[in-house]
Amino acid sequence: MEVEIDKKSGFCFGVVNAIKLAEEAILTGSTVSSLGDIVHNSQEVARLEAMGLKTIGHSSLRAGSGSTVLFRAHGEPPSSYQLMQQAGAKLVDATCPVVVKLQSRVRKAYTETLSAGGQIVIYGKHGHAEVAGLVGHADGNAIVVSSADEIDKIDFSIDVHLFSQTTKSITGYAEMKALLEEKLHAGGGRLFYHDTICRQVSNREPELRIFAAKHDAVLFVSSPKSSNGKYLFSVCREVNPKTYFIENAAGIDRSWFSGKENLGVCGATSTPLWLMEEVAEAARQIAF
Ligand code: SF4
Repeated sequence: MEVEIDKKSGFCFGVVNAIKLAEEAILTGSTVSSLGDIVHNSQEVARLEAMGLKTIGHSSLRAGSGSTVLFRAHGEPPSSYQLMQQAGAKLVDATCPVVVKLQSRVRKAYTETLSAGGQIVIYGKHGHAEVAGLVGHADGNAIVVSSADEIDKIDFSIDVHLFSQTTKSITGYAEMKALLEEKLHAGGGRLFYHDTICRQVSNREPELRIFAAKHDAVLFVSSPKSSNGKYLFSVCREVNPKTYFIENAAGIDRSWFSGKENLGVCGATSTPLWLMEEVAEAARQIAF
């Protein structure tokens, strides 16, 4: 059985940069703590923890860490920067530049709405770190909608600035935009929309469709924690029903390879290449 790893799967540049900064900080000999999982992949977190990285929550930051704290690619609200100052910890800011730009656009739109009247709406997942950061950049006054079921929170008689979490789907965003346009037209408000979906993620969708369709079976490697992983897996499964979600090589089921001539191995933006290589090698051994 031929086994091919998707060359375009794996870490996006934001995650590559965060891991590089974490490794560099660890090598200086200081105690480095990531505020939340540095990447939504348990295997990669375990590898970095073996090097010395710690993972902490906001409550530990409040208590004062006295060491080096890393803000991951998802970014943080302004309150986390204040907590850092109070805690007296050294900051390694690994916020992805794409997220930094989005945060400043949210802040600018929010500042404008303060005088002009209006609402900041973020199309994203409740509780996701990036979304929490964006809400913080609107001083906690942004409305988060994850689906059409939640749009009743919006007042359609006043203007709306619509943003998106960077990892949402282009289709989902386009549907939300069309729905808000219709509602605001009827209600009297105006829509100012900002397409802030990261192309590092959205470009993977069409590429993965092609990759998944050309293989007899596909192993999609990701942590169940990764939103992007769940989404890209569903994309692969749509074009190839013989797509299987696994966290690592231990999840492989021999029966999946029966009668198959070629296998594709791919993953999320949070899946390390070394893990896909391990899975590919295990699959070759099992199929041999
Ligand atoms: S998905 Fe895009 S925005 Fe998010 S960390 Fe990666 S490069 Fe940055």
